[in-house]
Amino acid sequence: MPKQHTFKVVLLGESAVGKSSLVTRFVRDQFDPYKESTIGAAFLMKVVPIDNENSANLHIWDTAGQERYKSLAPMYYRNAAAAIVVYDITQAASFERAKSWVKELQRQAEPGIVIALAGNKTDLSDRRTVEYAQSFGLLFFETSAKTGDQISGLFTELAKKIPIA
Ligand code: GDP
Ligand code: MG
Repeated sequence: MPKQHTFKVVLLGESAVGKSSLVTRFVRDQFDPYKESTIGAAFLMKVVPIDNENSANLHIWDTAGQERYKSLAPMYYRNAAAAIVVYDITQAASFERAKSWVKELQRQAEPGIVIALAGNKTDLSDRRTVEYAQSFGLLFFETSAKTGDQISGLFTELAKKIPIA
């Protein structure tokens, strides 16, 4: 039996970039374009293999409040082993916001937190306004929660980068 390691993962990013949709696609392999937006916090988990001996039990926190109430965010990312900062490739402002989240995490979060940047909604590439981002040395993926493009790659690569204690 592989050894299972539990890690807290948080999602950050502007409202409507697709954070909840990314998590739903990853955990349930579903996409619901009419789903109402997140109220409060949602918590989902999924186990992903890391190697022959280890697997990661990802405890994924998806909240709504962090978008509007900036003061809530530090409470939310406290003790997180990893963070996924999401923007929408059709919304330039969401990319600017994502960059400021990355800076905040690098300054304020647990040292060693693994950060991934995700440019979501690649299925809307005809409306793209953000070019394939320079990855700032972070893990970087362009994803689509709608089609499932790169979603498992994002979470699996993230899990593999988290140091095993
Ligand atoms: P959140 O506020 O960041 O959690 O965003 P949601 O997951 O609630 O998604 C906001 C809106 O964008 C919803 O209407 C989703 O159906 C839509 N959406 C999310 N991901 C994608 C995607 O990859 N492609 C497209 N076309 N729409 C998406
Ligand atoms: Mg949401």
